[in-house]
Amino acid sequence: MFGVFGHPEAANLVYLGLYALQHRGQESAGICSSDEKQLHLEKSVGLVADIFNEKRLKKLPGYMAIGHNRYSTAGGSNPKNVQPILANFSMGQLAIAHNGNLINAFELRKSLEKEGAIFQSTSDSEVFIHLIAHTREEDLKDRIIMALREIAGSYSLIILTEKKLIAVRDPFGVRPLSIGKVDGAYTVSSETCAFDLIGAEYVRDVEPGEMVVIDANGLTSYPKCIVAPRRAFCVFEYIYFARPDSRIFGGHSVNSVRKQLGKQLAIEEPVDADLVIPVPDSGVPAALGYSEQSGIPFDFGLIRNHYIGRTFIEPKQSIRHFGVKIKLNPVRDLLQGKRVIVVDDSIVRGTTSKKIVKMLREGGNVREVHMKISSPPTKGPCFYGIDTPTRQELIASSHNVEEIRRYITADSLAYLSIEGLFKAIPDPDNFCKACFNNEYPIVFPGQESQLEMMF
Ligand code: AMP
Repeated sequence: MFGVFGHPEAANLVYLGLYALQHRGQESAGICSSDEKQLHLEKSVGLVADIFNEKRLKKLPGYMAIGHNRYSTAGGSNPKNVQPILANFSMGQLAIAHNGNLINAFELRKSLEKEGAIFQSTSDSEVFIHLIAHTREEDLKDRIIMALREIAGSYSLIILTEKKLIAVRDPFGVRPLSIGKVDGAYTVSSETCAFDLIGAEYVRDVEPGEMVVIDANGLTSYPKCIVAPRRAFCVFEYIYFARPDSRIFGGHSVNSVRKQLGKQLAIEEPVDADLVIPVPDSGVPAALGYSEQSGIPFDFGLIRNHYIGRTFIEPKQSIRHFGVKIKLNPVRDLLQGKRVIVVDDSIVRGTTSKKIVKMLREGGNVREVHMKISSPPTKGPCFYGIDTPTRQELIASSHNVEEIRRYITADSLAYLSIEGLFKAIPDPDNFCKACFNNEYPIVFPGQESQLEMMF
């Protein structure tokens, strides 16, 4: 998500911001602007670069705009779920962009429908709109707060009305959300890498439970609008999701943390080898850290093709099965006869690692493959906005490390320990570790099995 308030090029800046945030969602994108009289919305299924052109951006006038890249963790990839969602209600127009996952959206939707609400999409995010429209407070800020008090789950939100931009982060602080300034205008972003692209300065994060209202009077903060018993920042943002050039959760460098994860992994899991190679791109910083700590040389033994769209059509049997080869290819001259340490950030189903090991042996002709994972075994699905498969599909939920090693056919396999992970991460007590320890911080008692059916 990205937003700008108070800039003559607001929509163009949001477009650039979305470009920098494309890694957070590749399914669809949208921008909504306000010219102070009405909101203008342009959105489609696809990538930012394919959706927007000069002509389309010209349809987004005004000094304020918000944008969203979607990848669906709830509600599926229905074109109606493309965000921002725009609605007209008694107080005027309102557009909303949501990053996160609501865990009580289904119940809320049912009760809202009983009261007569007509939903246009299957997205959990539409619940916000109906809740805001249904509350009776006089002030929009209070309406939003009342609505959010009904909601459980993770949400970083950017809301646009004709004259205001409002940003909110859930009280657990699951997803990141930062405030920046550019040419005297305010900007809000899921990640700071988007500030760098538009030349904005990172000011601070929107705090968990805080609402920030930006209008002609400037920025007004309403701290602790919603409260929670604890923080639950998503540890997977550091491990995999956020871009390494971003600063998240209090301005900490994702790259430094990822490198530190690799160093810690080298301390915990040393092995005699000739070369450290990353699974690009997500394994690169951790592999560098592993190499630095162990003294074993680093190189790019796997080359990634960056031009694989989501629409790659796998040819039928008559040609051959490409699998992961279309994305990655080993550098044989570098790998031949070597004992290789391969560093990746995580194993989910295990299929990528299995294919990589095979590829390194067959195409790279390596002597040994030692797979090192810069996070602990992923045992639990995420209910809060990371797209993980069901528990049954998570290989580590039902197999121990030795069984996974056998499945991926590596000579050795090692994961970072949970203790090691939190040695490398600043403010460790503030994090959700549910994907590793199955302790879900935002849940209604007894609801776990219901959530597993939903996500
Ligand atoms: P798998 O083949 O299912 O074990 O997937 C493992 C690979 O997926 C690793 O290389 C990770 O970098 C990557 N990965 C981890 N989490 C996700 C996610 N939520 N979405 C897409 N890719 C992921």
